[in-house]
Amino acid sequence: MENILDEKSSKQIFYNIWIKGKHFKKLTKEEEKIYNIMQEHYEYYVHYEVANTDELDYNKEDFNPFLHISLHLILEKTLENKKYAFIEDGIKKLTEKFGKHNSEHIFIEKLLQYLVSPNALQIPMLKNKVNIIIKKKLNEK
Ligand SMILES: [Zn+2]
Repeated sequence: MENILDEKSSKQIFYNIWIKGKHFKKLTKEEEKIYNIMQEHYEYYVHYEVANTDELDYNKEDFNPFLHISLHLILEKTLENKKYAFIEDGIKKLTEKFGKHNSEHIFIEKLLQYLVSPNALQIPMLKNKVNIIIKKKLNEK
């Protein structure tokens, strides 16, 4: 069993998905989700291409694109639960002004900060937080 939390194996998983998708091989539903997110971040192309090597050391780099993609995946998986439909509505509200991808980024950034707090798992508190994010962002010049 591959360990997704180990950097080397998770990079290899991303690499395998990238190569499969690139060569139009059949992807599983989960792989397809990840491949779509990777394609939305085409600027990381170089990272995908060498993910089966040790060429880039993410302990030294400031930015880890695979972590970023994983965060998108977590958001997407969260939104599959109807319980969190209000987060999806929130993203839609911001999409007109910021575009879909940037709106997702706003939620990844703001919600992650929030999700580490003990109140985060209570839906009313989370709803409240989503509304605050939307209001603030829509009022930004
Ligand atoms: Zn992104």
